Amino acid sequence: MQGLFQDEPEQTAARVLLDGFNDMVLDYAIPPGMSKVTRGSRVEVPLRNRTTTGTVIKLTPPDAEWGNRLKLITRLIDDTPAVGAKLMDLAEWAARYYAVPVEQLIRCIVPEPVRREHHEEKTRKMVVLVQWPGDEEMNKINAKAPRQAAILRYLHQSESKREPLADLGGSPALTPCRALEKRGFVRIEEEVVHRDPAAQENFAPSCPLKLNEEQQHALDIITQASDSQSTKPIVLQGVTGSGKTEVYLQAAAHVLQHGKGVLILVPEISLTPQTMARFKSRFAESDTKVAILHSAMSDGERFDEWHAIHRGKARIAIGPRSALFAPVQNLGLIIVDEEHDSSYKQENSPRYHGRDLAVLRAHLEGATVVLGSATPSLESLYNVASGKYSMLRMDKRADGQRLPLTRVLDMRTEAKDKRYLGILSERLRMAMEDRLKKGEQTILLLNRRGFARSLQCPDCGHIVSCEHCSLPLTYHATENRLICHICGYRAAVPRKCPECGSANILLEGYGTQKVEKLLRNCFPNARIQRVDADVAARKNALRDILADFRAHRIDILLGTQMISKGLDFPGVTLVGVLNADIGLSMPDPRAAERTFQLLTQVAGRAGRGDIDGEVIIQTFTPHAPAIQYARRHDTDGFAETELALRQELEFPPYTHMSVLTVRSPKEDLADFSINSLYKKLKRILPEGVVISDPLPAPIAKAYGQFRYQCTLKSRSARQVADIVSKEIRELNSGEDVIFTLDIDAYSFM
Ligand code: ADP
Ligand code: ZN
Ligand code: ZN
Repeated sequence: MQGLFQDEPEQTAARVLLDGFNDMVLDYAIPPGMSKVTRGSRVEVPLRNRTTTGTVIKLTPPDAEWGNRLKLITRLIDDTPAVGAKLMDLAEWAARYYAVPVEQLIRCIVPEPVRREHHEEKTRKMVVLVQWPGDEEMNKINAKAPRQAAILRYLHQSESKREPLADLGGSPALTPCRALEKRGFVRIEEEVVHRDPAAQENFAPSCPLKLNEEQQHALDIITQASDSQSTKPIVLQGVTGSGKTEVYLQAAAHVLQHGKGVLILVPEISLTPQTMARFKSRFAESDTKVAILHSAMSDGERFDEWHAIHRGKARIAIGPRSALFAPVQNLGLIIVDEEHDSSYKQENSPRYHGRDLAVLRAHLEGATVVLGSATPSLESLYNVASGKYSMLRMDKRADGQRLPLTRVLDMRTEAKDKRYLGILSERLRMAMEDRLKKGEQTILLLNRRGFARSLQCPDCGHIVSCEHCSLPLTYHATENRLICHICGYRAAVPRKCPECGSANILLEGYGTQKVEKLLRNCFPNARIQRVDADVAARKNALRDILADFRAHRIDILLGTQMISKGLDFPGVTLVGVLNADIGLSMPDPRAAERTFQLLTQVAGRAGRGDIDGEVIIQTFTPHAPAIQYARRHDTDGFAETELALRQELEFPPYTHMSVLTVRSPKEDLADFSINSLYKKLKRILPEGVVISDPLPAPIAKAYGQFRYQCTLKSRSARQVADIVSKEIRELNSGEDVIFTLDIDAYSFM
């Protein structure tokens, strides 16, 4: 046997993730002569009686038994692997950490439009004048074929001697052009048309600003780190308006000059159009293309931008969380702007954290990573404290403006004012009226509650919380009980407020529309615009509204959390927060942190111009640390207090918290499944991993499925990922039961 095969080249097999089939993976043989096939290559392979495409996820020695029966790869689509070696390592690491098949991460790296073959680049036909026939010959052509003559004349007169076929009469002009091509007068070429999502917008080139001392210091440290290929993450803590973006821009320019690429991550891009525009402007005149990646783009645009990055034509890529997988070549710098933002966590599988993977990617690629924020996450601050990350600070506003003056209004007394209209205190109303008179602008934030139903007393603001975790209890209608989602503590629903005795304890909420109506009654002549998820769902609506607001065609902008991010409006002198404490009542260990960040960020929108800003915060819990520290713009003070509390309660960042959820259309099945898994886990989980009793989720039913969950706390995330995912696989629980495991969860709903 052996002798027979001796001259045969050793065949290697490739494991291919097929496009379009949910995580289907098959082995194929690599034919001789296709040695460039490697990990990350895009290939065409036979499947049943047709061909399909896929991505090679690893090379494997052919199975002894099956090796010779494997089908052959039919085509290598591109010599350069779509997924480079470093990104492949990132995918494998993340797959293990988040306990998901590596296929799911490959799908993030090679996005849908790139996988779909028919989305080939758009080309157009160009007709080039090769030789002008001369007057005599032209007369002959004109007599016999007047259309050919017209085409030649047109090209002859054109400056570039090269015009699109469309301008020569479109497809009917193709026949005369072909005839001219045969005679050697013209040539027809295909030209790639690049679909640039920002093509319609004009970006006036901007020049680097002269940096202030703090900015210069930050820039120096970042460029030194990049020059020495230091991968120790740098937290850039700069107050709102300290000019972080200018530092990013100049750091990016430096890294580009050294021939390396830059990746910039921003929270959802439609909410941060200014950051994108600033990068487009700064590099408008250089030959560096800035690629934009975001979900609202058309498939064609995404395809083109991805390829521009992959080929190294675009050296800067900007986008939200998923852009962290962009195939930037020779990556030198990653910037995570507003690194504390919760949109960096993906809430469906793979449930990765964009900031954390950015740090990992920087490490793998030898790139420098900067985590910028006015209110860094406690995770990052903890890593600074433990020496894993380093810290840079910018404590002054770049334009010399003072941080706005912040007043906290105690709604327990404001609500007793006879003129109180509900939700809008008289003092905030008067401040708004004053701005209207002066022609200045107001931003009004209505903090949205989310889904959790906790109890807050409308008269004193008391939130009913767990005795053991100090987190708000969640109301469960089915049991008519309040339950703690961390430890399982149950309590009866109080008839009266335990704090002040008020009987109004069940609170009805305010939505943006209801507030808008109230505002229109209050200020009949003001130009008021509401921004919430409904409004923002319309394409470009948010962009247009923000442009109107900037141009002062709007006096009062009323919105949810959306309007708190990265916006810079010089005309805004007043920011009002209608219900500062609503976020505090979420059953979430990060509730206080989120509230602090939101208030600090939104306050940072005031007083960006020449007039000092003012911030008015309405709250029932004026003494909550999140509110008091936000009032003083004191990130350090808040972090210190909150970290101490987290340590005491063994919450993140001191532990990893993960959520195990089961969903099923049948409630008893969901209940039964999570209980069986729980019992098993309880037996086998090592000491130090704490699992809570199974409970209906705060969102107990969604999309027709009942949801139950357990929370897991551990020192090591990997222990939980490995053990729990193995048990889920072994449970084999049928199609109408779905388990999900969210490692390092940010949502406990
Ligand atoms: P941040 O991102 O830190 O909140 P921005 O980058 O939005 O701050 O900067 C706030 C404002 O200060 C912007 O209008 C910006 O153009 C301006 N700015 C930044 N750096 C400088 C500088 N060195 N000199 C003058 N103005 C600056
Ligand atoms: Zn009360
Ligand atoms: Zn509890």
